[in-house]
Amino acid sequence: MDNFARAFFLTEIVKGFLLTLKYIFFVPRVTINYPYEKGPISPRFRGEHALRRYPNGEERCIACKLCEAICPALAITIEAEPREDGTRRTTRYDIDMTKCIYCGLCQEACPVDAIVEGPNFEFSTETREELFYNKDKLLANGDRWEAQLAANIIADAPYR
Ligand code: SF4
Ligand code: SF4
Repeated sequence: MDNFARAFFLTEIVKGFLLTLKYIFFVPRVTINYPYEKGPISPRFRGEHALRRYPNGEERCIACKLCEAICPALAITIEAEPREDGTRRTTRYDIDMTKCIYCGLCQEACPVDAIVEGPNFEFSTETREELFYNKDKLLANGDRWEAQLAANIIADAPYR
């Protein structure tokens, strides 16, 4: 190696070292310590599904089946019958989460904001069967996330 090549080589090493120091001490961190830290999520984020209730505890879903009809993945299965008071409610509401493509069409089709895709993206499972959601699971998701779901709907309302 001649002197020129040696000088060039050393210069590149020093430049690389200075660049490393710059990123350690002077450039803001761009990574986060997931899962202990989490980044911001848009109100439109399409995560795990949930069925919502009204504040009095009544199910919002009126069993119109629009979500089932519009679902391009045929992931939703609904059965329904009238109650004694004449209202119509689902007796079965299943979503096969292994089929879902998270398009959000079910949410957009729903006239009463019952089925929604919430902010939860941490719902991986060990078995495939755990991703066959039934009505109880979806209502439980709604109860768990209601505060954030309602806030997201309000935040997104001007753009719908
Ligand atoms: S997000 Fe799309 S694919 Fe998934 S259940 Fe809703 S309509 Fe079907
Ligand atoms: S979730 Fe909404 S769109 Fe689907 S059946 Fe119930 S009311 Fe209709």
